[in-house]
Parts: sequence; structure tokens; C-alpha cells
Amino acid sequence: MSCTGDEYCPRCGKETSRYALVNGSCPDCQGKEIHFDQIARGGVYAQALQQMILSFKKGRTELDSTLAFLANSALEASSFYKDIEIFVPVPLHWSRRLWRGYNQSFVLAKKLKHTTARISTELVRIRRTKSQPAMASPAARARNVAGAFAVRRGHRFSGRKICLVDDIKTTGATLNECAKTLKEACAAKVYALVLAVAGQNVV
Ligand SMILES: [Zn+2]
Repeated sequence: MSCTGDEYCPRCGKETSRYALVNGSCPDCQGKEIHFDQIARGGVYAQALQQMILSFKKGRTELDSTLAFLANSALEASSFYKDIEIFVPVPLHWSRRLWRGYNQSFVLAKKLKHTTARISTELVRIRRTKSQPAMASPAARARNVAGAFAVRRGHRFSGRKICLVDDIKTTGATLNECAKTLKEACAAKVYALVLAVAGQNVV
């Protein structure tokens, strides 16, 4: 299901065998409240991929061609590729974007190859959240981002099929909160594309 040939759950992105899926969910995410419909990922957040993503986030504003290739391979291999009408980069709070100088998810979204979909920045982060500590529980991470996002007035998400774009999925709390906000704005579908999925033992 990705260019590396590994198999992952199309709902949460974790390693799994396709034979372990029941109604499109792996044993780990069955029964969990996940607001995005499906996810595609480039790989696992470890080793070389982790190093590339870290250097991309820490000042290398030009997306590495390897990362762009990985993201596009995952996107094209996804079952929802043709469905996508709008790419929505996971937004940073304006103060963090000012500090960093760019939003890495927006840089990534601009590198995605799609014949018809456009990029929207009508999803915004209205509250500055704490950096998600690596060891925080999934519940604590979900609380940290609750209510942190909103759609701009006059947004065009209603009835649309949207793909969120982010660099890493850890517990999925951020993507989940973004997807919830988009669904509340009447989005028809919300998918997610990430470079890498981290924390294989948590959702
Ligand atoms: Zn799963």
C-alpha cells in the first residue's frame, strides 16, 4: 500500500496485515472515534525517514525530492486519490509560522501532484497549542488540540472531498481534530496524507 511495499491500516496508518482488517479497520483502531475516513502514509517515522523529516522541519524549507517522491507515491497508491478535490495543509498558529518562517505542511502540499485538486488555507489554527510531548497519553494529546481549529468565514468546504496534509502522524490527535472541524463544516469526506506515521503502539 506504499512505495516501500509495506502494509498498513487504511484507517489509522499503523503496520498491519491486510488480513487483519475488519471493515477497513485494524484491531487497534476498531471502535475508536476517528474523524478522517482514510489515511495514506509514506512510511514509518524512524531511521532515515525520521532524519529527513527532522531536517526538513528545522530550516530546510525546500522539500527534499526524496520526501516529495515518497508523498506522491503514497498519494497515488491510495484508494482515495481520484476522490480528492481540496488539499488542506494542517495549519500552524500564526505566531509559530512567524517564528519558523513557513508551514512545513503547506510546503509539502505544494509538492503534491494532482490534476484537479487545489490547496485551501481556509482551515486555521485559532489557539496556540503546546508542543505535543512525545510521552503524553493519547487522551492528553487530544485534550491539547481540542477546539484549536476553525474554518474561515465564507469557506468552501461544504460537500467537498478533502485531503489533510501533514508531515507526521503520532497519535493522530491533530489530524482527528482537523477532520472533526472540517466535518462540522459539512465536508463530505476527509482523508489524510502524511509523510510518516510514528508511535506504532498508540492511536
Ligand atoms: Zn487501524
